[in-house]
Amino acid sequence: MAKYDFDLFTIGAGSGGVAASRRAASYGARVAICESSRVGGTCVLRGCVPKKLLVYASHLRDELEDAAGYGWTVGETSLDWARLIEAKDAELDRLNGVYLRMLGNAKVEIIEGRGTVVDPHTVDVDGTRYTAERILVATGGWPFIPPTPGAELGITSNEALDLKEIPRRIVIVGGGYIAVEFAGIFAGAGSQVTMLLRGYNVLRGFDDDVHAALAEEMKRRGIEIKSHTDIESVERKGDGVVVRCRGDQEHEADVLMWATGRRPNTAGLGLAELGVVMDGHGAIEVDQWSRTQVPSIYAIGDATTRLNLTPVAIADGRAMAETLFNDNPTEIDHQVVPTAVFSQPQVGTVGLTEKEARAKHEHVDVYRTNFRPMKHVLPGREERTMMKLLVDRDTDRVLGVHMVGPDAGEIIQGFGVALRCGATKAQFDATVGIHPTSAEEFVTMAKPLD
Ligand code: FAD
Ligand code: NDP
Repeated sequence: MAKYDFDLFTIGAGSGGVAASRRAASYGARVAICESSRVGGTCVLRGCVPKKLLVYASHLRDELEDAAGYGWTVGETSLDWARLIEAKDAELDRLNGVYLRMLGNAKVEIIEGRGTVVDPHTVDVDGTRYTAERILVATGGWPFIPPTPGAELGITSNEALDLKEIPRRIVIVGGGYIAVEFAGIFAGAGSQVTMLLRGYNVLRGFDDDVHAALAEEMKRRGIEIKSHTDIESVERKGDGVVVRCRGDQEHEADVLMWATGRRPNTAGLGLAELGVVMDGHGAIEVDQWSRTQVPSIYAIGDATTRLNLTPVAIADGRAMAETLFNDNPTEIDHQVVPTAVFSQPQVGTVGLTEKEARAKHEHVDVYRTNFRPMKHVLPGREERTMMKLLVDRDTDRVLGVHMVGPDAGEIIQGFGVALRCGATKAQFDATVGIHPTSAEEFVTMAKPLD
């Protein structure tokens, strides 16, 4: 008889947990997964998918506005937000069903409820105990709200995806991925958007030209960006709120949204008691095999905050399953990971920023272009595209590729492959462009900046 109920017990049926469980089961492992909410996790139910659907909806405003420039007569337009949210929810239900079926087909046992770790081989799910040779913690993360008097009057991305109506005025605190994506959604939907940043600019940590170009375009769309704000309190005012900041600055809004980062869902899981090491924010420390300090306990995805992106959680989960259940030790390189921000316009980036490149390499050539895409000319849209390449002059290797402009996410994916292969600038130059596109600029930038 088997020593344990399962070979693998996964806590959390989000992107990482589902991928790891299915891959492990495909190699014959006996796998169970528990989920305290709905199968699918953040990306499918509260993140990437619903967010992108709302981005599509709000961005259609541009298409409708630009249609006249191409000879179309478009009647009066309006956005039925309630209908959009209903359609989005129906799609999420469909995806939840797809995930449930995928797990069922893979013969992964789904257990509803909140899991906690009792000992290195036992998980408790709402009072029932299960044993497993290995336990995988894939519990993801949750929005973090800075402790502020009245903070509870604000919402987070979770609720922003389900608002009953478009707020007339919204204040968004933060300037990261979520803040800029939702600023774009609400501005496109017709809200007056104010962003309150504690720092100087949006998307800190991205290349300086990226955040400068994005901020300029967001402002062009009417989004107000207030730098160096220090929020002291939030109070109710009428049906809305007033956000009071240091220096007597006040901002009134119908809705306040906190987009101030996320923290791992690891509190109260019983991990610290067993010797699993976590940082001050609760991120689980793991080695290159996603193993914690307790040899039978593994962790992946946002619970480890290596890179909080869905494809990374999936890759880490599959690598763990390959290593443990297919005798195929697999490590994931978290260095050259392409990423996109679905702001309006989009950001796409892979590799080093200029600052990082200059810190690591003595001679860095910078190629940059800034132009109005052809599609914008007839409608008279002023929005510009910024593209940038960073090259190590000594080896000719391309170190970073950055773009702010339409379809940047789609375009950068392919350059992710090129950078992973160690492409040189000479190879970029030898690649024939596709004309007329914006992407061809990446293979036609001839002269570096002085
Ligand atoms: P999750 O997907 O969060 O899954 C964790 C699961 O564990 C959840 O279902 C949770 O309910 C469950 N759980 C937690 N604790 C327990 C417990 N004790 N017992 C049982 N179950 C438990 N990434 C991208 O790559 N592209 C994007 O466009 C993108 N957009 C995003 C937009 C938003 C608004 C947000 C919030 C995130 C976005 N992300 C995006 C990030 C992405 O969603 C996460 O990186 C990804 O979902 C992490 O997967 P995970 O498996 O680690 O965790
Ligand atoms: P980010 O870490 O991207 O941004 C957090 C923002 O909140 C920053 O602007 C930060 O400021 C600010 N902030 C943090 N603490 C405070 C505070 N105490 N007071 C005021 N401002 C504060 O987190 P997000 O919540 O936007 O997103 C979480 C993660 O989810 C992302 O990092 C990303 O990994 C993932 N994600 C990915 C997406 C994608 O792939 N398209 C989309 C959405 C999310 P400062 O810059 O000064 O630190």
